[in-house]
Amino acid sequence: MIVIGGGLAGLSSAVALAEAGHRVRLLEKRPHLGGRAASYVLPGGEHVDNCQHVTLGCCTNLEDFYRRVGAADKIRFFDQLLFAAPDGRRGAMESFPLPPPLHMALSFARFPLLGWADKLAIARALLTIARSGGRPVEISTGSVTMLDWLQKHRQTERAIRRFWEVILVSALDEELDRIDARYGIDVFWKAFLSTRGGYRVGIPCVPLGELYEGCREAIVGRGGEVLLRAGVRGIQVTRNQVTGIEREDGSVETADYYVTAVPQDILPALLPADVVEREAVFLNLRNLRTSPITGVHLWFDKKIMGEPFLTMLDSTTQWVFNKTQLYGGGAATEGQYLQLVISASYNLVPRSRQEIIELCLNELRGVLPGIREAKLLKGTVVKETSATFSPAPGSDQWRPAQKSPLAGLFLAGDWTFTGWPSTMEGAVRSGYLAAEAILSDVGAPRKFLRPDLPAEGLCRFWARES
Ligand SMILES: Cc1cc2nc3c(=O)[nH]c(=O)nc-3n(C[C@H](O)[C@H](O)[C@H](O)COP(=O)(O)OP(=O)(O)OC[C@H]3O[C@@H](n4cnc5c(N)ncnc54)[C@H](O)[C@@H]3O)c2cc1C
Repeated sequence: MIVIGGGLAGLSSAVALAEAGHRVRLLEKRPHLGGRAASYVLPGGEHVDNCQHVTLGCCTNLEDFYRRVGAADKIRFFDQLLFAAPDGRRGAMESFPLPPPLHMALSFARFPLLGWADKLAIARALLTIARSGGRPVEISTGSVTMLDWLQKHRQTERAIRRFWEVILVSALDEELDRIDARYGIDVFWKAFLSTRGGYRVGIPCVPLGELYEGCREAIVGRGGEVLLRAGVRGIQVTRNQVTGIEREDGSVETADYYVTAVPQDILPALLPADVVEREAVFLNLRNLRTSPITGVHLWFDKKIMGEPFLTMLDSTTQWVFNKTQLYGGGAATEGQYLQLVISASYNLVPRSRQEIIELCLNELRGVLPGIREAKLLKGTVVKETSATFSPAPGSDQWRPAQKSPLAGLFLAGDWTFTGWPSTMEGAVRSGYLAAEAILSDVGAPRKFLRPDLPAEGLCRFWARES
């Protein structure tokens, strides 16, 4: 089997196929594994993630994948979400021993950064979501935006800004008026309502690249190969059947089955033009729009942040991660490395790196007062202009299943149809689904896909069969 692409989709399909007893050859264009969820070393020697990546307790397949490749203990889960207002006031959300969907009600009631009118409006809307099992009928067409739905459910302006937007823009990397309400509502159902632990934030305590060390072993140990700097230039097709792939060095390789796990804007360029024109599955990929994420890396000479991470309200900066603490740097470590994340960062794309750093530093001053005595030693901005596909109304119709219309070719990638947005969980689901589709084709079906966390408490009665 040949797998093209060493991001999470390619790695998870390759590991699953290897576990099923197949010899896999994984070809990755870059010098490292992980794709968009990778890390690398800067010229100054700092090991940085492409961007901070977090997982949630409800990401059952990513958790399964990390376990398979021996990386599960490199993810630390946090039970408390800490929010900061621009004046520095903090508010926490966490779970209490009450049956879902009431498990977060106590911390929500005490949350100081929302007023009673906001909380009442939010509670009403959350109850509507919970009682519909995460699927209110009025959004079933896939044409309603999240903002439309929130306005229909009479959310206050502050509830939208300080609650719905804060969670959804970072979970889905898109603005509320461009999100299919089904995706938005699913986030609340899976992470915050139906289970007690779905909202827990999992953060790697090592650079992302170290999470994939066990993948090579899982593939090579079963007779396969992982090749880096091994870009594929084209997929050869004869009468609707894939017959081989051509590598960038001109060599041609053949296999019984091929999995492509490259981004959706790259796949059509690898296929013969007439095949793309003929097959709507490939032609329609151009309809999937993408949205940007900006990461800002700041190194200070002093410690200015005590918390492991913070969500910032009413500011351009959305999340601040205390990388020094997350990587286990104790009190003896000098200085501090913070990573800031801004999702759906359309406004930042045209701005200069210096401007972005100054904007973020200004916002941090209110929230982390210690910054006034600290010196910024170094700052880097990473703009990912096509970070994820946009979960816009109608986007599902362009997401293909993992079995392609070409014999021998299977598709993986966060953009293929998984029901999940563009996330690491979505990528792993796609990889498992591609492997399952191949194994069915071979006549030796096997399940890799893990189910969602089972609904608990009152939500057990409201949950619907998928
Ligand atoms: C800035 C940023 C922040 C994010 N934050 C989060 C987060 O916090 N949580 C979360 O769950 N998700 C997050 N995501 C999304 C997540 O990274 C992706 O959904 C996921 O990694 C996609 O995996 P993939 O394997 O589908 O694609 P990719 O990771 O894009 O992998 C595709 C691979 O194919 C390779 N490739 C391309 N062309 C060729 C070729 N011709 N030959 C061989 N190989 C090729 C690429 O080099 C790459 O390694 C973030 C994404 C970005 C960009």
